[in-house]
Amino acid sequence: MDDDNAAGPADPRRRIPRTDALLAHPRVAAAVASLGRSVVLGLIRAAQDRARSGDIAPEAVETELLASLESSRASSLTPVLNATGVVVHTNLGRAPLSPAAQRALADAAGYTDLEFDLVSGARARRGAAARAALLAACPAAEDALVVNNGAAALMLATTALARDAGVAISRGEFVEIGAGFRLSDLIESTGVRLVEVGTTNRTHLEDYERVLGEVAAVLSVHRSNFRIEGFTADADLRELADLCHARDVPLIVDLGSGLLAPEPALPKEPDAASVLAAGADVVIASGDKLLGGPQAGILLGRAEALATLARHPMARAVRADKLTLAALEATLTAGDPPVQQALHTDPQDLRERTETVAYEARSAAMDHAGRVAMVAVLVVEHAGRVGGGGGTGVDLPGWAIALPEAAAAPLRTGTPAVVTRVHEGRCLVDLRCVPQDQDGALADAIGRVLADLSAGRA
Ligand SMILES: *Cc1c(COP(=O)(O)O)cnc(C)c1O
Repeated sequence: MDDDNAAGPADPRRRIPRTDALLAHPRVAAAVASLGRSVVLGLIRAAQDRARSGDIAPEAVETELLASLESSRASSLTPVLNATGVVVHTNLGRAPLSPAAQRALADAAGYTDLEFDLVSGARARRGAAARAALLAACPAAEDALVVNNGAAALMLATTALARDAGVAISRGEFVEIGAGFRLSDLIESTGVRLVEVGTTNRTHLEDYERVLGEVAAVLSVHRSNFRIEGFTADADLRELADLCHARDVPLIVDLGSGLLAPEPALPKEPDAASVLAAGADVVIASGDKLLGGPQAGILLGRAEALATLARHPMARAVRADKLTLAALEATLTAGDPPVQQALHTDPQDLRERTETVAYEARSAAMDHAGRVAMVAVLVVEHAGRVGGGGGTGVDLPGWAIALPEAAAAPLRTGTPAVVTRVHEGRCLVDLRCVPQDQDGALADAIGRVLADLSAGRA
C-alpha cells in the first residue's frame, strides 16, 4: 500500500494527495480507460515522488499528474514530423496514412464484418472489398491477393510457383533491401532453389532460355535501391514474358515499390499495369511505399496463378489482418495519400511555405529569447528524395531551412519530435513531408531551439 502517511504530523509530505483520491479525479479515471491502470499508477507514483523529494509542492501533484497524463500515449511509438525530405522513410514508418485510411483503421479496430455477410448472415470472403479496390485501381489484373508485406508476397509467390524445381533470376537483380536482408536468402529460406542467370551487368534473353527447362518460374526483380551503369543489358520484359509463356513457365515480377499505374513524376519506375500488359503472370508490390498505404504485400495477376498462391498453406501464415485490409481499401478508394502529395509538391509553393516557417521561427525565437536569435536561419535549395524502394537517384526539386547542425538533436527530442537531415555541417528542415497544418508547431519548435542555441542553453 501507499506510504503517504509515513512522515510526521508537521511534515509537508502529509499533504501529498493519496493515490485513491487522485484516481477518483474524473480525468484520471478517464485516463485509466485509455492508457491502462498500471501506466496511470506509475505516473501517479512519479508525481508523488517528486513532491516527496521536494521537487514540487504537494499541492502541485494533481496539476503535474494531469500534465503527464496529457502527454502520455498508450503506445511508446512517438509521432514525429518528418522534415528530412525523404518521402518513403523506412526508419520513420514509411508511408503516413491518409485521413480516410486512418478513419478506416479506427472503424475496423472493433468487431467488424471481415468475413461475414450482414445481409445473409453467412460467412463471406475475407478481404473482398480490398481485392475489389485493387482490381478497380489496376484493371489489367484478373485477381489480387493481399498479404503481410512485400517480402511475404515474394516468399509466397516463389514457394508456391517454384514447386520442386527452381526459380530463375538474373545475377544483376540480387537485391539486398534494408537491415541486411537479401531477397535471395529470403527465397531460399523456404527451400526454393535459385538458378542464377547472366552476369551482374548483362543478362540476355538467351541466358533465360538456357535454364527454362530446369525451373518452374522466372523472377524479375526491380533494382529498387541501386543502379547499374555503363556496359549493361537486360532482357526486354515483353520478350521474356513471351518466352516464358511459350515454355509454360510463369513470370513473377517484383516491382519493389508499388505503383499500380505509371507515375509521370517517376518515369523510370515500373508499375503493375504496364508490367501486366507486358505479360507478367504475377506482380508483387508493397502497400506502404509509393502506393502510400499500410504495410502490405500486394499480389496482382492472372487468375490461375493467384489461385495457386491463395491455396498454398503459406498463404494462411502471411495473410493480412483486418486493419491492413481496411486501411488499404480506404487508401485506394479515397486516393491522393500523403506520399503522392509529397511527390507532387509544387517547388514554388514549398519555397513560400518554407520562407513563412523560417520567418515565424525567427519571431518565435525572439519571443523566447527576448532578442534576435544570434543564429543563422537561411532558406536554401534542397532536393527531396523518394526513399524506400523507388526512384533511386531521382531529385525532387525543393527547399529547406538551413540551421546550425547543433539544432538537430534538440529538435529530435522536443515536442513535437522533428527529424531533420544533417548534411555537411547543417541541420536541414525540409517541409515537403510535414503536414501543412503542423507548420505553426514546427516554426515554434525551431524558434525554441534557436532561442536556446543563441542563449547557449542547447
Ligand atoms: C522493399 C522491397 C521488397 C520488400 O517489401 P516489403 O514490403 O518491405 O516487405 C521486396 N523487393 C524489393 C525489390 C523491394 O524494394
